[in-house]
Amino acid sequence: MIQDIKKIALVTGSSRGLGKNTALALVKKEVDVIVTYRSSEAEANNVVSEIADIGGKAVALQLDTSNTKTFDNFVERFEQSLQDTWQTGQFDFLINNAGIGINAPFIETTEEDFDRLFNIQVKGVFFLSQKLLPLIKDEGRIVNISSGLARFSLPGYAAYASAKGAVEVLTRYMAKELGQRQIRVNVLAPGAIETDFAGGVVRDTEEINNFIASQTALGRVGVPDDIGGAIATLLSEENRWINGQRIEVSGGMFL
Ligand code: NDP
Repeated sequence: MIQDIKKIALVTGSSRGLGKNTALALVKKEVDVIVTYRSSEAEANNVVSEIADIGGKAVALQLDTSNTKTFDNFVERFEQSLQDTWQTGQFDFLINNAGIGINAPFIETTEEDFDRLFNIQVKGVFFLSQKLLPLIKDEGRIVNISSGLARFSLPGYAAYASAKGAVEVLTRYMAKELGQRQIRVNVLAPGAIETDFAGGVVRDTEEINNFIASQTALGRVGVPDDIGGAIATLLSEENRWINGQRIEVSGGMFL
């Protein structure tokens, strides 16, 4: 039997938004995908069906990246899925995308909100990547997702943007230490994109949408299709020498 040589990606938080768009963009580049969701099981199953419709293979797994205590169990289920669906014990690409936005002024940010943001966006990325390392192939790739807000500042994102800043530093350390296995690690920072993120504020609030468009060189707010393809392309062989870098994908916000 001819071995299936398709690459396999794990995209966290791919039931909706940028993760879903990335999953579909990867499938169009002949990459199979493991989709994860926190609570939107039906949406995740729909993504799996959409992937099947365009000729790809995918499975959906539940994962809460805010709770490191669940990671051993997740890795077990993940390994089982790799075996059951692809008859392999390893995968190629990890995209640490799952995240939430909480908009609160610095002075009003609660410790609870701070912990929620850092648990999902920093601690989760750190320890999930660590636990998955034995399953990532040598020469595999990791893409962490940051935000334009880690470069420029808008009121209301002190905790969120600090968490993304931490992910950017973490990315450089991961790249430095995983280079010996030829694993490339980069961080992609989207600008403001119209998704459900932070209650859909960028998409649904005309004033904010217009303001962002006015501060963007290309004159509009981003849409998911601006991001998924960029992530899929970053993972292509042609970009193998890009390592330890922050790549902003924002249409030129606040230049
Ligand atoms: P969405 O709100 O549209 O989607 C979020 C995804 O993450 C969903 O799949 C959701 O699962 C999952 N998720 C949420 N919390 C958890 C958790 N605790 N554990 C596991 N999965 C979780 O957001 P976006 O697609 O817009 O955002 C994706 C990433 O992009 C985030 O890291 C965000 O910070 C970043 N980003 C977004 C920008 C934007 O303007 N949209 C700009 C810059 C960065 P479920 O459906 O089950 O809830």
